[in-house]
Amino acid sequence: MQNWQWSETGGIKFITIPGWKQQGVDMLFASRHKGAGRDHFDSLNMALHVGDDKETVLLNRQKLMDIWGKSSDDLICCEQVHGNRIANVDNTERGRGARKFDTVLPGCDGLITATSGLYLALFFADCLPIFLFDPLKRIIAVVHSGWKGTMGKIAIEAVKGMQQQYQVDPGSIQAFIGPGIGPCCFEISRDLADQVGGEFHERQDVLQEQNGSVFWDLARSNYYLLQKAGLKPENIIVCELCTRCRQDLFFSYRGAGGLTGRMAAVIGLR
Ligand SMILES: [Zn+2]
Repeated sequence: MQNWQWSETGGIKFITIPGWKQQGVDMLFASRHKGAGRDHFDSLNMALHVGDDKETVLLNRQKLMDIWGKSSDDLICCEQVHGNRIANVDNTERGRGARKFDTVLPGCDGLITATSGLYLALFFADCLPIFLFDPLKRIIAVVHSGWKGTMGKIAIEAVKGMQQQYQVDPGSIQAFIGPGIGPCCFEISRDLADQVGGEFHERQDVLQEQNGSVFWDLARSNYYLLQKAGLKPENIIVCELCTRCRQDLFFSYRGAGGLTGRMAAVIGLR
């Protein structure tokens, strides 16, 4: 069984999967430290759309890409609108959103590619990052799945995209569900709990009641969605670190009351 682990390069601490690296995949989920940002964005904020100084973010992005000796111009970023659309990208999209938010791929929350040397990047503070890798056809994807994305089943859309574009067999896809807000902290309204209960009626353990409040386990929900899409449970790694509990490591939107930085989830085929 493969698993995730912490690693460190150039002072930056990040989560990665050594087993994927051995198969030629560069991937990481960065912690919040060792960047150039200040105050709310202290310090490795990777997102251009959250009000941080642009040059600081660009410095941080290049510092991250230095881990692999790559340029931040190799990144591709999308708008992240809490929807469930996935874009399939190749060299024509290289650099989209890398230096300016204006040039991101609009209207989507996930990226798929078969092209080596492209680094797909999404940004997070509590929402769940999901990484997908098919070792047989060498296809990768990364997905932004917050509560809206989970309700919209974006994880399933990503697997479908890999099937339709590249004839990938879901049974061979490996997945990593990274850090996000945990069931310890993700309290939701009764209204939303009713909707979640409807969508996940076969899996009521995604909701937990405590002292009259309802908490939603997003990671478990996405774990079930990936299995519904055809992935084998033994091919899905779940991180289980809570971004809100671990603000010593991560930015947390809820923990900060809104104004905060974003961590990067990046994946590329070498
Ligand atoms: Zn927590």
